[in-house]
Amino acid sequence: MAVRNSRVLHRSLRETPPKVIGGEGVWLIAEDGRRVLDASGGAAVSCLGHQHPRVLAAMAKQASKIAYAHTAFFSSEPAEALADHLVGHEPGGLAYAYFVSGGSEAIEATIKLARQYFVERGEPQRQHFIARRQSYHGNTLGALAAGGNAWRRAPYAPLLSSAFSHVTPAFAYHEKRDDESESDFVARLATELEAEFQRLGPEKVAAFIAEPVVGATAGAVTAPEGYFRRVREICNRHGALLILDEVMCGMGRTGTTHAWEQEGISPDIQAIAKGLGGGYQPIGAMLASGKIIETIRRGSGAFQHGHTYLAHPMACAAALEVQRVIGEETLLDHVKELGRHLERRLTERFGNHRHVGDIRGRGLFQAIELVEDRATRKPFDPALKLNHKIKAAAFEGGLACYPAGGTVDGRSGDHVLLAPPYIATRDHLDTIVERLGAAVDGALKSINQ
Ligand code: PLP
Repeated sequence: MAVRNSRVLHRSLRETPPKVIGGEGVWLIAEDGRRVLDASGGAAVSCLGHQHPRVLAAMAKQASKIAYAHTAFFSSEPAEALADHLVGHEPGGLAYAYFVSGGSEAIEATIKLARQYFVERGEPQRQHFIARRQSYHGNTLGALAAGGNAWRRAPYAPLLSSAFSHVTPAFAYHEKRDDESESDFVARLATELEAEFQRLGPEKVAAFIAEPVVGATAGAVTAPEGYFRRVREICNRHGALLILDEVMCGMGRTGTTHAWEQEGISPDIQAIAKGLGGGYQPIGAMLASGKIIETIRRGSGAFQHGHTYLAHPMACAAALEVQRVIGEETLLDHVKELGRHLERRLTERFGNHRHVGDIRGRGLFQAIELVEDRATRKPFDPALKLNHKIKAAAFEGGLACYPAGGTVDGRSGDHVLLAPPYIATRDHLDTIVERLGAAVDGALKSINQ
């Protein structure tokens, strides 16, 4: 048997990543003492950076009281306080919170709640969910079936439910035709969504599910003006629910607590995760409208779902403190201001770059897309693995960012996603752009570009 230096089943079975031994604000410290600037918070997770003293203290305090109790027997102070904090003021009609351990679990809960709501309302025929191509909703089988990320779905396709179908994403850079205005594009997408309702039978559709700003699959893709209002109208007209996946783009990442606040609509059910606990504990949540919960309260009286670690007290305590810090330090104003700075810097560095076709995003959630030819938006050959090369070059240069491939169609296309912590400074952002520039140019050079 070949000698391996780790028994952990790592993401790559060919290499073992270095061990992280510490962190300090925006910095991660590797075992050899190297300091790496965390420009993507892992996968848009570490919104307060690393080792925030207030969050560590809140976790220690909770650990000294009670670390875990099963929700079949007890609620807990941090779970109650976190739910009050998130939905006590009923943002957009969202009135209840269901705490799970991450984004995929949150999405599974949204799908099941939507289905159970219709069963209990006497509309059991509503069993279809419409989602979008080039989206990601998680890796568990239900969430994977909902998502439209072609390469992630491919090996598991025979196991994925046919209850989910996919329409064109609101991805103007690739999907809007050159002779179309933005509003023509929105109208075309709305027509397609309406046609999908008609194909399935509008009375058979339970929900439409989408990321308000698409994350890792396509790279910080915001929808054109008016798109989500049209989507909301179509769902309302057919009595279907709108589920928004804010696992990555939510909890302040785009400058408002919820990304949907900037779209002039609100969902019936929402999933949040990464920025909720900022990585201090594994936690996600489903937020649901009062209307849905009241229907089930009057019906069976229980959401027929559950996990062992629902509303884990340690996770809720960490997330509550993360959210209090964001509120008390008015960090969302900072996210907006820093977001403008990051956009300016990215534009200065890459605006005229012959292989950067698009710079996009909102707040501290931005991306650059690499293309072989800017005029035609032709992507690089995926066999070149440009995004892998950029990631490696950036890491070598002391920068952790989030490059990914399959940007265009799940196969070709390369982008780099940035999601720095909300506590970053302008100087940090300048260093991020400088190091990213060097990594992009170095990687392009290695493929003779
Ligand atoms: N939904 C979106 C939009 C995501 O970006 C992710 C993770 O990247 C998920 C769901 C799944 O979350 P998790 O990896 O915590 O299960």
